[in-house]
Amino acid sequence: MIPFVDLKSQYRSIKDEIDAAIARVFESGQFVLGDEVAAFESEFAAASGAQYGVALSSGTAALQLALIAAGIGAGDEVITVPFTFVATVAAILYIGARPVLVDVDPRSFTIDPSRIESAVTSRTKAIMPVHLYGQPADMDPIRDIAARHGLMVIEDAAQAHAARYKGRPVGSLGDLACFSFYPSKNLGAYGEGGIVVTSRADFADQLRLLRNWGERTKYQHIVAAFNARMQGLQGAMLRVKLGHLEEWTERRRRHARRYNALLKDSGLGLPEEMPYARHVYHLYTVRTPDRAAIRAALDAAGIQTGLHYPVPVHLQPAYAELGYTAGAFPVSERVAREVLSLPMFPELTDQQTAQVADAVRTAISVKSEV
Ligand SMILES: *Cc1c(COP(=O)(O)O)cnc(C)c1O
Repeated sequence: MIPFVDLKSQYRSIKDEIDAAIARVFESGQFVLGDEVAAFESEFAAASGAQYGVALSSGTAALQLALIAAGIGAGDEVITVPFTFVATVAAILYIGARPVLVDVDPRSFTIDPSRIESAVTSRTKAIMPVHLYGQPADMDPIRDIAARHGLMVIEDAAQAHAARYKGRPVGSLGDLACFSFYPSKNLGAYGEGGIVVTSRADFADQLRLLRNWGERTKYQHIVAAFNARMQGLQGAMLRVKLGHLEEWTERRRRHARRYNALLKDSGLGLPEEMPYARHVYHLYTVRTPDRAAIRAALDAAGIQTGLHYPVPVHLQPAYAELGYTAGAFPVSERVAREVLSLPMFPELTDQQTAQVADAVRTAISVKSEV
């Protein structure tokens, strides 16, 4: 069996370091926030090219609190994409703002900058690009539009730890950037976690208040806020894993290069690393009109796959209230029907990537004979 991701083999590879980190937290008694979380915040912010990091309880909390810290609220509009994980759009709705969706680029699957400007209205406050699958959105034109219209740029970098745009790290490309440490992400906690990084001291200050009941001093609640704090254990374990992220990222990139070489001329649409990008392959996602057949053949061969994402957000029943109908975003809708994610995690072996590629090629040739 080849799993889609394998968190157990990663744990085994760093078990001694993780177990020591757990022991440190238990000895310290700092189970919520604390020194380990504070150290992780500085280390992760530095790695992301930002001044400040505010560690939170999830990536979704990061998106929600970043929007509030940026001064966005009820009645405001935020521009983002329908081809993403639902959390991006949900976070905008949580704060009472309106998600205004624009279609993605068919090569990068990230927001199509040429479609943004016509979605800007007098109520628009921010653009929220999603660095989907680990590839940064095309940030320069996005920042130009934001500057012209006085908009915030909030990166949804949940899938893109250590990715770069024109050499600059994701996390330093907008006013605020939101990361998730859900266990299967490129940098994953052993539980839930997230962070907002920013180089604006006022935003960081707001975020610290928002995550912890608006308390600057005990019993003084100066803003209406939340419990969205990171656990001490997660901070300590994430510090350990951050030390391995670069090596794990290089392994993902190597697996992607192997898949690309082995699947060249297979007829599949292969992921493209855009000229401006360092893609970190959170997901290795191919495109094929024969997705169902190929997926079933891989499943029969013991190879797990994933769909990211089979239904764009605007066609999900939960978000019908947004008022978009089928046909509103043709690129997102077509891509959603064709994408198939192959196993991708740092600990994959060359033998496993070869086995996956073989199984895919066999499935395609069987399909073309019938
Ligand atoms: C995972 C993810 C989120 C949400 O992060 P959680 O930590 O699961 O709350 C948001 N946006 C995108 C694009 C994601 O992939």
